Amino acid sequence: MSVLRPFALYRPATLAEAAEILTRDGPEAALYAGGTELLLVLKAGLLRVRSLVDLKRIPGLGAIARDDGHVSIGATATHRAVERSPAVLADCPLVAGVARHVANIRVRTTGTVGGNLAFADPHSDLATLFLAFDAVVRLQSPGGERDLPLAEFVRGPYETARADDEILAAVRLAPWPAGTAGAYMKFGVHERPTLGVAVALMRAPGADAVADCRLAVGCVGPRPQRLREAEGRLRGVSLADLARHADEIAALAARDVDPADDLHGSAEYKREMTRVFVRRTLLVAAARAAGQDTHERYPHTILV
Ligand SMILES: Cc1cc2nc3c(=O)[nH]c(=O)nc-3n(C[C@H](O)[C@H](O)[C@H](O)COP(=O)(O)OP(=O)(O)OC[C@H]3O[C@@H](n4cnc5c(N)ncnc54)[C@H](O)[C@@H]3O)c2cc1C
Repeated sequence: MSVLRPFALYRPATLAEAAEILTRDGPEAALYAGGTELLLVLKAGLLRVRSLVDLKRIPGLGAIARDDGHVSIGATATHRAVERSPAVLADCPLVAGVARHVANIRVRTTGTVGGNLAFADPHSDLATLFLAFDAVVRLQSPGGERDLPLAEFVRGPYETARADDEILAAVRLAPWPAGTAGAYMKFGVHERPTLGVAVALMRAPGADAVADCRLAVGCVGPRPQRLREAEGRLRGVSLADLARHADEIAALAARDVDPADDLHGSAEYKREMTRVFVRRTLLVAAARAAGQDTHERYPHTILV
């Protein structure tokens, strides 16, 4: 780590003003929110900038609100704000629960949702979980606004579909229907998760079979994935019978995941861990659907 090089700090009052500075200074400028990633990168000399554009003082950019049946989380909302947001707690309680387990209290208090998604670190809980909420990111530039599904926004490690002059303004989540049983399980021995699995099981009122579902796995590869074939296999399965199918569905998920070797382990190890954790998360969600609690606890594992 070296000391920071000199830079100009801009504190725009509007998103439009921020976008203008970004366009004017091009690659010499970087957006700055909580700084929990950016300062590390700058101090390590991996990025050199002449100007930082601080987004935190833009009024309303951290707002969390219900919007047309969705929950909209503004880019500068911190993890802590998400954890405590009445809208998130009411409409997407699992998201509040996961926010409570991101990083440590220092990062949760300063780190933002926009910074997490825009940085595209592969070891992100939010990018994984939000796929299970059909998340859409809203990008703003001097040319206007566009919405992009999160699945298309995150392209790979530290790479997104964001153009140089675009600012991530908000992410919109589609809450699950009432009665959905969900679970998020993450495992890790380092600060950031090695693996995250999000599951949602939806049923028609009074029915026992899975009418619709979400299964997302992240942190094991270059970007989080929805596992569509495993989801297809889940649909129609009776919840009372899910334990009998869990091995097969977990094996499908492990087959389709795209793991990569890194500090957290080999691709082969992560494929196997995907199988184990998809199975466990499915069983937890099924138990919750049946109104039971699951008392199993595993080392280095957080269950939300
Ligand atoms: C020790 C540690 C542990 C962590 N553990 C976890 C974990 O368990 N789970 C997890 O999900 N995450 C984890 N993280 C990641 C954490 O969530 C992010 O560091 C944080 O949310 C980033 O937000 P920030 O506001 O600090 O981003 P910054 O550092 O300010 O910015 C990060 C990057 O995003 C860009 N950027 C910021 N805001 C925008 C915007 N609105 N539009 C476009 N680009 C933007 C910046 O230019 C920069 O490139 C961990 C991080 C640390 C340091």
